[in-house]
Amino acid sequence: MTVKVRFAPSPTGRLHVGNVRTALINWLFAKGQGGQFVLRIDDTDLERSTKEYEDGIKEDLSWLGLEWDDTFKQSDRFAEYDKATEKLKADGLLYACYETSEELDRKRKIALSRGRPPVYDRAGLNLTEEEKAAFEAEGRKPHWRFKLSGNPCEWTDLVRGPQSIDTSSISDPVLIRADGSYLYTLPSVVDDIDANITHVVRGEDHVTNSGAQIEIFKALGGTTPQMAHTPLLIGADGQGLSKRLGSLSIQQLGQDGIEPVAIASLLAKIGTSDAVELRDDLQTLASEFSFDKIGRAPARFDEKELLGLNAEITHGLSFEDVKTRLEELPMGDQANEAFWTLVSENLQKVSEAAIWLPVFFGDISKPELEGDDASFIAGAAAHLPEGEVTEDTWKEWTNALKEATGRKGKQLFMPLRLALTGQSHGPQMNKVIALLGREKLLARLS
Ligand code: GLU
Repeated sequence: MTVKVRFAPSPTGRLHVGNVRTALINWLFAKGQGGQFVLRIDDTDLERSTKEYEDGIKEDLSWLGLEWDDTFKQSDRFAEYDKATEKLKADGLLYACYETSEELDRKRKIALSRGRPPVYDRAGLNLTEEEKAAFEAEGRKPHWRFKLSGNPCEWTDLVRGPQSIDTSSISDPVLIRADGSYLYTLPSVVDDIDANITHVVRGEDHVTNSGAQIEIFKALGGTTPQMAHTPLLIGADGQGLSKRLGSLSIQQLGQDGIEPVAIASLLAKIGTSDAVELRDDLQTLASEFSFDKIGRAPARFDEKELLGLNAEITHGLSFEDVKTRLEELPMGDQANEAFWTLVSENLQKVSEAAIWLPVFFGDISKPELEGDDASFIAGAAAHLPEGEVTEDTWKEWTNALKEATGRKGKQLFMPLRLALTGQSHGPQMNKVIALLGREKLLARLS
């Protein structure tokens, strides 16, 4: 059996860390098994879906390196869904219901007040032809529900183990709305059958859907794929991420200077028995992937951890790796290997080089020096050793300053760092002054 999975986003927004994790797990599993990864665009909601989001989702996936072997959109396949609908109707498994949402609401409240679960009472199933005709004459349009078996629906989930959903405890799901539009439930099953999907891998918020969908697979005569439902992501604070997902879009993280492989490494490892560690590429992550490693507890997504991995990557990048990216920053065309070697150790992101480019290749605004720091700096140039400024100059210079002023430690070094770089932290000062050169150094002390 060749593994074939699908990632099925709705094009109603860009990808965020939550849905990218689902995409990644699908991709890693498929590629680890020599299988195929299909991108399905779930755009049956024609009002909320846009071409821009569809393109954006593809851009996000490509940027992460999650290339797909095939892609299609649901909006091209309405004829197939209509065919499945006819079959279900003919088999008595799809029935018309005429309740308004207010009426359904009332039924739910009554059930709850009587201590019963708010499961749909199947009134639609028992309507006579006359009753239906009367509703139609009132101008009501039916919505359509799938008739669940009422039996337990069982499967062995690749993450959750043996599962049993008692279908008598859930409402017959609406597959088609009164306006004739499809909810996601039926098209997804039709597509999974037609595309020969072998594994459905998605978030655990879909577990109950799976109970209904497995019955629809059977009703349509298809082979039910294996199922894997992964625990959801939570933030470092233990709270759900839903409110913050906007700022955790892949596009935003990319614009913020996060490297794709940092995101992939983190999302592949959190919530698993593997340590969260940086990997060089997706292939390595794929070779290490196994559903057995995924735990049942929510996976913690910690932005600090992401930044830590990103820093690790940044430190390992060579000047050649970043040259073109530096060129996009102001003064970045002047950057050279010595500059990158010096500053990269202090960066968490390549884009932070923007802070250091003007320090070495342009001007900095004069820092505010407190108290007698200003006079200390004004007198510092007089003690600078003659000749070319090298990495050895710093020691000689600061020794001389120490002797002349009695300053030591932070008192000695901090005003110099501030005056010369405009920053209170950064690379080693002996290297900083060597790269700055005598002329810039003297100019900043004056
Ligand atoms: N479009 C659905 C979603 O984003 C797909 C779920 C699935 O993978 O079946 O939730």
